[in-house]
Amino acid sequence: MDKRQFLKASGVLIGRTMLSHLASREQQAPTRTNWAGNYTYSTDRLNLPKTVEEVQQVVKSRSPLKALGARHSFNGIADTTGEQISLKYLDSMVVEPKARTVTVGAGVTYGQLAPYLDGQGYALHNLASLPHISVAGACATATHGSGNKNGNLSTAVSAIEIVTADGEAVVLSRERDGERFPGAVVALGGLGVVTKVTLDVRPTFQVKQVVYENLPMAQLESHLEDIFSSGYSVSLFTDWQNHRVTQVWIKSRVEQGTSSKLAPEFFGAKLATKKLHPLQGHAAENCTEQMGIPGPWFERLPHFRMNFTPSSGAELQSEYFVPRDKGYEAILAVEQLRDRVTPHLLISELRTIDADNLWMSPCYKQPSMAIHFTWKPEWPAVRMILPMIEEKLAPFNAKPHWAKLFTMSPSRLKSLYVRLPDYQALLGRYDPGGRFRNEFLRTNIYGGL
Ligand SMILES: Cc1cc2nc3c(=O)[nH]c(=O)nc-3n(C[C@H](O)[C@H](O)[C@H](O)COP(=O)(O)OP(=O)(O)OC[C@H]3O[C@@H](n4cnc5c(N)ncnc54)[C@H](O)[C@@H]3O)c2cc1C
Repeated sequence: MDKRQFLKASGVLIGRTMLSHLASREQQAPTRTNWAGNYTYSTDRLNLPKTVEEVQQVVKSRSPLKALGARHSFNGIADTTGEQISLKYLDSMVVEPKARTVTVGAGVTYGQLAPYLDGQGYALHNLASLPHISVAGACATATHGSGNKNGNLSTAVSAIEIVTADGEAVVLSRERDGERFPGAVVALGGLGVVTKVTLDVRPTFQVKQVVYENLPMAQLESHLEDIFSSGYSVSLFTDWQNHRVTQVWIKSRVEQGTSSKLAPEFFGAKLATKKLHPLQGHAAENCTEQMGIPGPWFERLPHFRMNFTPSSGAELQSEYFVPRDKGYEAILAVEQLRDRVTPHLLISELRTIDADNLWMSPCYKQPSMAIHFTWKPEWPAVRMILPMIEEKLAPFNAKPHWAKLFTMSPSRLKSLYVRLPDYQALLGRYDPGGRFRNEFLRTNIYGGL
């Protein structure tokens, strides 16, 4: 019996004997994959605690252990050869009006949280392209939306509760723990199992979304800032052909008294005459409302609607962050690869993100532009193209999205994070024995240890 078979066999036994008094576990579940189906987890053992106490018991009795969110990451960041723990039953949501915060159980998705918050008169500062992801999983990987003045989603975190390796529930807050809190928010699942997240909220607001087609890419040479600051959140889509942005999505806050008239042209692009999906041939029904029709923030800031398939479904994703002031140069560098990239691409998206102070965020102290690739599910070809893109973007010190596919060497990746030694020290403090260490962290953070 090899080690994996032994662990599987013994895991089933432990599960059976402890089930009555410990967190329930999905036993002998069919092989599980991530959302896109491109990554099969190395374990089929999943713990499903219903309380923080049960999480603590799981943490004390299982090693190695890895928290699993909504399974939307494209690489092995949520994988382990030991056991996984899903917090989906920890789904409480409590608004604290005086503090202007909401505290959520770590299983809560943005799709659950946003309508609840809106119903209480509140909003988050931003959302990613889809609401299906969990708050804890998104914040652990510095997931972002767009907007020159919008930090990534984890910048809204003001406190977290983490069950660390010794089974203690530790609360860290922005206010009280300034010296280590910025290292604990974008933690890549390494510090422990997050059980609660507290987020800043603001009064609810309305947003309208307008789409323009065919923006000449050359307009970005002198107008990149103007274009990305033309709305609260702006996304540009391109297939890299014809030096052209195929669609511009502008999400603007609707202020009272402002005109509802839509400009027919935008830097040479034309106002769309019907609702569009960023991917040609896909149903626009899956997308949030466009055509300038105002609606609540959470029904406009994501591109995709909650009960519909986001993006394509059959796809891979990669994304690289570059300094915003080098954005156009970086676009030109990738564009040189267009004839290698386009045949395997569904679509690329360009977004901007404000700087933050979170140690492992790709936007640490850097206003950024993110160059995203939604690929066809053709990994052998994509794996050959990624090193070329990474080479073209190397002069801009491009950092890959933690949760998407990249081929950058661990030594290169580590050299891009100036606060990595501090993060490693934090891991040493909260997980000295490596209970939450997985192959992804061993390779990219610990350097093979
Ligand atoms: C269709 C699609 C669209 C996307 N759009 C965007 C986008 O617009 N912007 C963007 O930046 N990214 C985007 N992503 C990537 C996505 O936001 C990230 O993969 C995100 O981390 C997924 O969250 P999740 O809940 O699925 O977490 P998982 O993928 O399950 O886990 C991600 C990480 O979080 C950790 N984690 C999860 N829960 C906990 C917990 N309770 N305690 C400790 N650690 C935990 C895991 O261990 C793992 O390290 C997209 C992905 C897909 C599939």
